[in-house]
Amino acid sequence: MGIILRGLCKCGFDTGDIFVGAGFVNFMETCNAPAICPKCSELLVRNYIKKDEARCPGCDEKVVFYDDPSLYDPSAKIEKHGYIFTWRIADTNRFFKLPDANFLCPACRNMTLFFEDIGSWD
Ligand SMILES: [Zn+2]
Ligand SMILES: [Zn+2]
Repeated sequence: MGIILRGLCKCGFDTGDIFVGAGFVNFMETCNAPAICPKCSELLVRNYIKKDEARCPGCDEKVVFYDDPSLYDPSAKIEKHGYIFTWRIADTNRFFKLPDANFLCPACRNMTLFFEDIGSWD
């Protein structure tokens, strides 16, 4: 079961509903996760399992997933706050983990975007 995240920033930027993880029918080959295109500065949802092939549909640049330490405030105490979202990639010991931290906002480029867990989907 995947979850629905919503990203909000102080500047007013709102990602709307982001469906992350996967549903019952596609969990073997899919782990949807938020990412950013460094060129267009656009928030995208891409398949983390195919991380190396995940590209921006607009400019074909390789996207950076939001679990990348360059995209969140390094002062965040992950040990203390934990992760807002953790997903085990089917049949592997790999995980996508989204720390409970402040992230790079694609709109204002400050580390002021945060994600909320607003529900689950199937
Ligand atoms: Zn792009
Ligand atoms: Zn912002």
